[in-house]
Amino acid sequence: MKLAELNELAIAEHLVCWSCRSENWFLGNWGPHPGGLSLEGFKEPQWVFLSCQECGYDTSFGKWKLSKAALAQIEAIRYANRKKDS
Ligand SMILES: [Zn+2]
Repeated sequence: MKLAELNELAIAEHLVCWSCRSENWFLGNWGPHPGGLSLEGFKEPQWVFLSCQECGYDTSFGKWKLSKAALAQIEAIRYANRKKDS
C-alpha cells in the first residue's frame, strides 16, 4: 500500500474528527517507527498521522474503529505482523 492510499482509506471509512466532527483528512505527518506500517517507497515501517483539514487535529490509524475490511488492510501491512511471517 502507498501512503496516498492510506488517506483514501480514511476518507472511504468516513472517519469523524473527534474534535470538530469533520470527515476531511489529509496525511499530516509520518516517520519511522517499529510499530508502524510497511508502505511502498519506504525502507522502514512508517507511523502515519492524519490531520483534520478543518481543525488540525492529529490522529493515527491505531486509534480508530475501522471496518473489518479496512482493519484487515491495515493489519496486512503492519510491520510487526510481516516479521512474524518471514
Ligand atoms: Zn477536526
